[in-house]
Amino acid sequence: MELGLKGKVVLISGGSRGIGEALCEAFAGENCRIYFLYKSNSDLAKQVEKRIKETYDGVFIQGIKADITNSLECESVTQTIVDKEGSIDILINNAGIIQDGLFLMQSAEKWESVIKTNLFGNAALTSAVALSMFSNRKGNIINISSTAGIIGVKGQTNYCAAKAGIIGFTKALSKELGMKNIRVNAIAPGYIETDMTSNIKNLKDISTNIPLRRLGLPHEVAKTAVFLSSDAASYINGATIVVDGGLTA
Ligand code: NDP
Repeated sequence: MELGLKGKVVLISGGSRGIGEALCEAFAGENCRIYFLYKSNSDLAKQVEKRIKETYDGVFIQGIKADITNSLECESVTQTIVDKEGSIDILINNAGIIQDGLFLMQSAEKWESVIKTNLFGNAALTSAVALSMFSNRKGNIINISSTAGIIGVKGQTNYCAAKAGIIGFTKALSKELGMKNIRVNAIAPGYIETDMTSNIKNLKDISTNIPLRRLGLPHEVAKTAVFLSSDAASYINGATIVVDGGLTA
């Protein structure tokens, strides 16, 4: 199937690890031009760049250190890319954090940081990028939510609130930007094998509650993002696609 992604400029937040790294790789496989953001670990980002360049001959990929909770940094990164490329065709809001704990024991700081990164940060980056998409009258935005935004998870009130917020954000924004030929969709992954899930103690019990009896792999989420941003999904807008092995079925 022709996906029509060759040469598209893609910006991925949180691209240095986990699902974000798999997103970089999946779009490299489609011959896109890739920029990814990360917050702190420059060595890891350099390794991702190097590995993907070696695997996909001639592909352009560049990691940029930027904190999505800082609106000015979001604007400056966007401007740099748009000045160089003319446009950003695809934005994937993937960066996210967890700060788990039972609600009554949780500090205001933990609540604030989870909402600030997972909700406000993704909105700040979208705001900068969507402005240029608006002028170009084309674009594609994919927000990485979570099944935790659909069903509640004990110990994750802040994360569940942020990820449910991302689904609402996606729906509302799809109604604002659709008329400018910009599609906005969300992906809600279930449990995926990354650093984020590596410290969960009862993973074996969790797996037995998943109909496919295993955790998902980062590339299984990334492939969904490739599909959603392609011509094959040209009439999908405002949707949330669940990628969870049947967990929430
Ligand atoms: P990881 O913890 O493996 O990676 C997180 C990435 O986000 C890193 O690249 C990190 O950069 C970056 N990041 C964090 N905060 C910021 C920030 N303020 N500014 C810029 N970059 C930032 O996460 P996953 O790959 O597991 O998750 C990716 C997304 O998928 C998240 O939104 C997560 O909530 C969601 N998700 C994950 C699931 C899972 O089971 N893993 C399930 C459902 C949803 P650095 O390393 O430099 O700090």
